[in-house]
Amino acid sequence: MKIRPNIQSLIPYSTARDEFHGGDISIWLDANESPYDNGVNRYPDPHQKHLKQAIAQLKNVSTDNLFIGNGSDEAIDLCYRIFCEPSLDNVVAISPTYGMYAVAAAINNVEVREVALEMPNYSLSTAKMLAATDENTRLMWICSPNNPTGNSFPLSQIEELLQCFQGMVVVDEAYIDFSSQTTALSLLSRYNNLIVLQTLSKAWGMAGLRLGLAFADKFVAELFDRVKYPYNINVSTQEEVVKRLQSEPHDLHVKEICEQRDYLRQVLPTLSCVEKVFPSDANFLLVRVSNTDDIYAALVRSGIIVRNRNHIKGCESCLRITVGTPQQDEQLLACLKRYSI
Ligand SMILES: *Cc1c(COP(=O)(O)O)cnc(C)c1O
Repeated sequence: MKIRPNIQSLIPYSTARDEFHGGDISIWLDANESPYDNGVNRYPDPHQKHLKQAIAQLKNVSTDNLFIGNGSDEAIDLCYRIFCEPSLDNVVAISPTYGMYAVAAAINNVEVREVALEMPNYSLSTAKMLAATDENTRLMWICSPNNPTGNSFPLSQIEELLQCFQGMVVVDEAYIDFSSQTTALSLLSRYNNLIVLQTLSKAWGMAGLRLGLAFADKFVAELFDRVKYPYNINVSTQEEVVKRLQSEPHDLHVKEICEQRDYLRQVLPTLSCVEKVFPSDANFLLVRVSNTDDIYAALVRSGIIVRNRNHIKGCESCLRITVGTPQQDEQLLACLKRYSI
């Protein structure tokens, strides 16, 4: 594993709270905060101790293997900042996939080598992934279940990449709770070049709180913690997430959403404007329709927004439709039905 030399030698910012240990302190005059208690006048815990314990317990991992970011997007950016030398190193990613890997690469001035998934099912060729690497390839991006195609990749293929590729293999499992596939977390103890990303934004229903998880070898998790902004998770988010995890199951509506997804997958193909519905392990469906841009516009006129992927390479003529509540989905179907006549 190759780490950028400046990160290897980095002396991280030491917060006011890092420099004191123990003692029974009641007067905090160390961080230039306001002394007047309004619930948020103090800086958040930079180490997110309570939050980390709650999540590690839920996920059955050690807190040493867990990094918590301001959304997965922070973890994605940190992967570049830790492992990739701008304008020198490169990464390999499947295509089509989640757009943030390429945006974060562009911001960090790192080349992305895209490997097209195989049609007709968007399957993964490990041979092509490996063939796209060279001595400057530092990361491999595998999103599974993949956004926007919805399918997941066999763990055996991910394991093959972990064994054959020397750099970091990042497996983005934002949609894993909707999938019957086993999580790559099961490989964590055996591969120190594995990073698994998960998020509270989808199945956990907390997109507004901005919390992303990265699971990795202790050494890698420590690197993430050293490079992140010291106070990346605010007080309200830390408290709110701990509170919610104590009071309700984290995957409250997952079963309903999966049932509703499977229902839509049955019904959508009966509409004449629908050409194909791709199988999905996630909470959305990739749907190929006739006259894609017209149908998108018709849905908008009905007050329904879906994601138009017509102009994305590999997703031509496709809409990505998030599974809604049963009522919302009936409205979607009614609108598509009107368009089908
Ligand atoms: C939605 C999504 C995320 C979530 O990002 P957050 O910053 O945690 O909200 C991550 N990866 C993929 C592939 C996604 O679709």
